[in-house]
Amino acid sequence: MPSISNDNSHAKKNACPVCKKTSADDYKPFCSKRCADVDLNRWLTAGYTVPAAEDDSEGVELDEGNG
Ligand SMILES: [Zn+2]
Repeated sequence: MPSISNDNSHAKKNACPVCKKTSADDYKPFCSKRCADVDLNRWLTAGYTVPAAEDDSEGVELDEGNG
């Protein structure tokens, strides 16, 4: 029987945050390892310096010499 489904299963829920392409299962949420590396590099370079927030000081020390 003719059933009309309104749920948009075709909606692109998973898109590569780097190039906006369809993400691959092996490299979620990225489309490829290359984009995964690109995003990682952004974190290592641009997002390396985090704003000093001394709100929650629970004795957690970050070891900087582990890179
Ligand atoms: Zn990508």
